[in-house]
Amino acid sequence: MSRRNTGLTVRAPAKINLHLGVGGVRPDGMHPLLTVYQAVSLYDDLAAAPAEAWRLGLTVDDHVAAHEVPLAGDNIVDRAADLLAAHHGLARADHGAAVHITKAIPVAGGMAGGSADAAAALVALDRLWGLETCDDDLLAIAAELGSDVPFALLGGTAVGTGRGEIVTPVADHGSWWWVLALSARGMSTPAVYRHFDELHPDASPEPPPADALLAALDSGDPARLAATLHNDLQAPAFDLRPDLADRIARGEAEGALRGLVSGSGPTCVFLCGSGEHARAVAAALRVPDPATGAEPVVLVAHGPVAGAHVVEGLAAH
Ligand code: ATP
Repeated sequence: MSRRNTGLTVRAPAKINLHLGVGGVRPDGMHPLLTVYQAVSLYDDLAAAPAEAWRLGLTVDDHVAAHEVPLAGDNIVDRAADLLAAHHGLARADHGAAVHITKAIPVAGGMAGGSADAAAALVALDRLWGLETCDDDLLAIAAELGSDVPFALLGGTAVGTGRGEIVTPVADHGSWWWVLALSARGMSTPAVYRHFDELHPDASPEPPPADALLAALDSGDPARLAATLHNDLQAPAFDLRPDLADRIARGEAEGALRGLVSGSGPTCVFLCGSGEHARAVAAALRVPDPATGAEPVVLVAHGPVAGAHVVEGLAAH
């Protein structure tokens, strides 16, 4: 019996950085990193169906700023399609798809939402176009797309070196609970790195190591992990957005084991001892701003979770 290709849906997770060690800027303008990523249970879904031409659509959750997501032409998903086709020597004009992103990961939130979409696009289009790209090649294309894209493919908990694109899974015996306090306004990652350079003009080319944190992950003990979370971009992010320091202090005062800025911010993450503990801290942080009356968006997530994976599709009879 012939099978009709009706498309598929790929789900990709947000990341948080449990450790972000930044070295002095390289001649190519990039920073050497030693980071420990964890994929958490906040996802973008990307559906891809056969089509003659290339189309890109978007649906967002209430807390996602749709107007900040570039549509067809400038989206990272367009670049993912271009690079994948080029890798196989395919003419892009002959390879269309109707792609739709359903976005829950905040834009410019320090949670690598664009990278998640790029990873989802690579997995989806590879299947849709029947390319059977090997894992190493997919990781290489992902690294070309952006420093965080290989990790979005891999998921779990992993060390990232180079500029973050060289990913190696690490032993993680925990099931960790996080409160994610989102921000209404995003932050520019390059601006945070520029301010890091101003604060650390003589930064060593060797980013600080994460040995104590890796031992804590291996132990599965939340108190040990809390004591070893580290982010070199937190101080520059606080300078650019002083409200983030207050937010971290509030979460810790409400009983979180530890608060930390995720990546270059502005999302703040709080490690908790259990799902119940995380829900209680999240509820305490959902207090309307006295000036604007707006209630902050505070979510609960757990990690580690899988990297980009097919959740629906590919063929129907
Ligand atoms: P990182 O932590 O990797 O710096 P981020 O979470 O802070 O990432 P993203 O949400 O990935 O930031 O978006 C950064 C910028 O990329 C956005 O401001 C937007 O202009 C652009 N962009 C391109 N494609 C996408 C996409 N599919 N989703 C979100 N942003 C996109």
